Amino acid sequence: MEYEPVIGLEIHVQLNCRTKMFCDCPNVPGDKPNANVCPICLWMPGAIPQFSSEALEKATLTCLALNCEINPKSAFDQKVYYYPDLPKGFQLSQFHEQLAKNGWLDIIGEDGKTKRLRIHEIHMEEDVAKLVHETEGQTRISLVDFNRAGAPLVEIVTEPDMRSPYDAMEFLRNLRTQIRYVDTAECSMEAGTMRADANISLRPRGSDEFNTKVEVKNMNSIHAVGDAIAHEIDRQTKKLNAGKEIILHTRLWDPLKNVTTPMRGKFAGPCVPDPSVPEIVITEEWLSNIRERLPEMPGQKRSRFMKDFGLTEEEATIMSGVREVGDYFESAIREKVSPRLCAQWIGSRLLPSLKQRNEQISETSVKPDRFASLLCMVEKEAITANAAREVVELLFETDKSPEKIVDERKLRQIGDSDELESLLDKILEEHPDAVANFKSGKTQAAGFLIGQAMRGCKGKSNPKLLKKLLEKKLG
Ligand SMILES: [Zn+2]
Repeated sequence: MEYEPVIGLEIHVQLNCRTKMFCDCPNVPGDKPNANVCPICLWMPGAIPQFSSEALEKATLTCLALNCEINPKSAFDQKVYYYPDLPKGFQLSQFHEQLAKNGWLDIIGEDGKTKRLRIHEIHMEEDVAKLVHETEGQTRISLVDFNRAGAPLVEIVTEPDMRSPYDAMEFLRNLRTQIRYVDTAECSMEAGTMRADANISLRPRGSDEFNTKVEVKNMNSIHAVGDAIAHEIDRQTKKLNAGKEIILHTRLWDPLKNVTTPMRGKFAGPCVPDPSVPEIVITEEWLSNIRERLPEMPGQKRSRFMKDFGLTEEEATIMSGVREVGDYFESAIREKVSPRLCAQWIGSRLLPSLKQRNEQISETSVKPDRFASLLCMVEKEAITANAAREVVELLFETDKSPEKIVDERKLRQIGDSDELESLLDKILEEHPDAVANFKSGKTQAAGFLIGQAMRGCKGKSNPKLLKKLLEKKLG
């Protein structure tokens, strides 16, 4: 039988607030273990949580970036479970009344069509402590680091709208883009500031039933999410084909062996309303203030770039995918360079070079005005594209202007000059056979002669001009 995968995601995103969610301890992942703690986030008896307004603002902004409706009232519950990473015995989370619902993100599906993937709800939650397992001599020990305890999270729960590993990966990439635009979280799966769990089940293709799902955790990159889902689809297909039943449980992704393995269940208790954190009431006025902080989002920016600057959809997508890339592009084209040429060179040259050098576009020494003045020379055919590619790399090494680099390296294109005329005369003299072929109408001969001329001038002319001159001479 042919099966169709049904996939939903639960994504935890750590908000980049200055403090934790219920105390004033710094919210800095990666600090020395247990450096950022106080009686509240060590969960000492009697400590009263103080809800952070910054966490509420950033959580709300995140929900708006994901097209959610904000609930006017929400509240915290105690999610009861017992585990060494949670000595107080419960986690503050929103179970009965969440912050937001009914969001969505559009992705471009594998068939090239736009596909809307729905978000069921987004709720706020405090993070738990982190267990570190080590050995001391022969003894295996577990240590608890409370730096993360109480860190502000939002959990994004999607509808089971995804049908392939591709859909899930595109959703996560898109989610990251949207959230980075509003700058409320870093969203790095590698750094642990975004964590995604996947719920996967199979059903006969064409059916609309929902079967028993299996949850997969422990993926540390978007790519690993795709790999883990693909593996789980394969595992469940084999099981069903062998006539076996799928049992509800949680599995861990093992990135080294590329398999999922069953995980021992944690005891999960009830969710009861928390009496210490007041109910959260959001007024229209407060919400409209937060709404005003939304920047132009990637989709709007992409449409504007296509409409105002004539970029293709692909060019506009690259220029709007990261907010800082869009800012760079718009600064560069203020220098009167063609927007399409600029987008093409940012996409094909600048971004790969930055990646190779591990530099951020907002911090690079290749400022937009320098990059644009190089592109102006390309546009005026003062230098060839080949020479310009060389200069892009040199711009990183020095703070000289592109014009100066071009002059120092003698990269200016040889125009319609005597120098070029005599070069061509010399080449025609050296290759009488090619000249004869050209005259008898064989067009490859022209290509050969232009190639020779390009080599002769060390690439400092352009083939179009050479062809024109050649035809004048032989025509
Ligand atoms: Zn604290």
